[in-house]
Amino acid sequence: MPAKLIDGKKISADIRKNLQKEVQELTEAGMKPGLTVILVGNNPASRTYVANKQKSCQAIGVESTLIELPENVEEKQLLKQIKDLNKDETVHGILVQLPLPSHISETKVIETISPEKDVDGFHPINIGKMMTGQDTFLPCTPYGILQMLHHEEIPIEGKHVVIVGRSNIVGKPAGQILLNENATVTYCHSKTTDLASYTKQADILIAAVGKAKMITANYVKEDAVVIDVGMNRDEDGKLCGDVDFEDVKNKAGWITPVPGGVGPTTITMLLHNTVKSARDKLVLRN
Ligand code: NDP
Repeated sequence: MPAKLIDGKKISADIRKNLQKEVQELTEAGMKPGLTVILVGNNPASRTYVANKQKSCQAIGVESTLIELPENVEEKQLLKQIKDLNKDETVHGILVQLPLPSHISETKVIETISPEKDVDGFHPINIGKMMTGQDTFLPCTPYGILQMLHHEEIPIEGKHVVIVGRSNIVGKPAGQILLNENATVTYCHSKTTDLASYTKQADILIAAVGKAKMITANYVKEDAVVIDVGMNRDEDGKLCGDVDFEDVKNKAGWITPVPGGVGPTTITMLLHNTVKSARDKLVLRN
């Protein structure tokens, strides 16, 4: 039987409907959630991601501001801009679109964003809170994965989660978040020997590699849940994931499509974090 589809678009629409109501309530209470995105340079992919984020904010009533800086902007000027936004009461979320030009330190930029406005969940303080299971902003892509699993009522506790990829923004936090949900987690990466011997043990397999269609049915256990984070172009220039969807769909129990899987839920959790930031501030004010 073909795998059941985990529809990221539909799940996102449900979450966004609730967020929209909350945005309205916060706005009425004088705390309209606001997200400011800083875009440095002219990377076309970054520009598309930023446009999607802005459109999604506007659709649910979140105030969205874009600050564009030239490719050759000095690091100190960008840091000054972030510090100004840290002080701006109307800004609840600050997002600096990555990657940045090589003369700018991403670490410095992330560490300059106030942890209270770090809606990407990349600041070391927020990562530490995530590690220790405290309330914080969870990184949006793995947080979206968690929402998809919850929405489909897929059990996590006691399950073996295997993650291919160990980046700071996807692979590592995905493992930590699912560990916090009592999964047993295995990380694989480019130095893993005999990758399939690990992935074939996964009850939940997460592919976050960036290699078009590399996960074929041979890497997947019968009836596994397969989450595809990858966003790649295939040989015809068509958007595709790290999972060979056509091959894997007849073996997996559940599968996310690309597009329409992890992508939409990632943006939804960015909205969620921005709304959370405004709500936290309102609670402090009252
Ligand atoms: P990175 O390039 O930062 O990390 C890739 C990871 O894959 C690394 O840990 C690397 O290992 C590992 N890897 C590379 N080759 C292999 C291999 N042959 N076998 C096993 N592991 C391998 O990527 P990201 O985590 O940022 O992104 C991964 C993918 O997800 C990309 O396609 C990206 O576009 C997409 N993405 C999608 C998002 C969405 O919203 N849908 C959001 C973010 C990313 P090592 O550490 O050893 O180098």
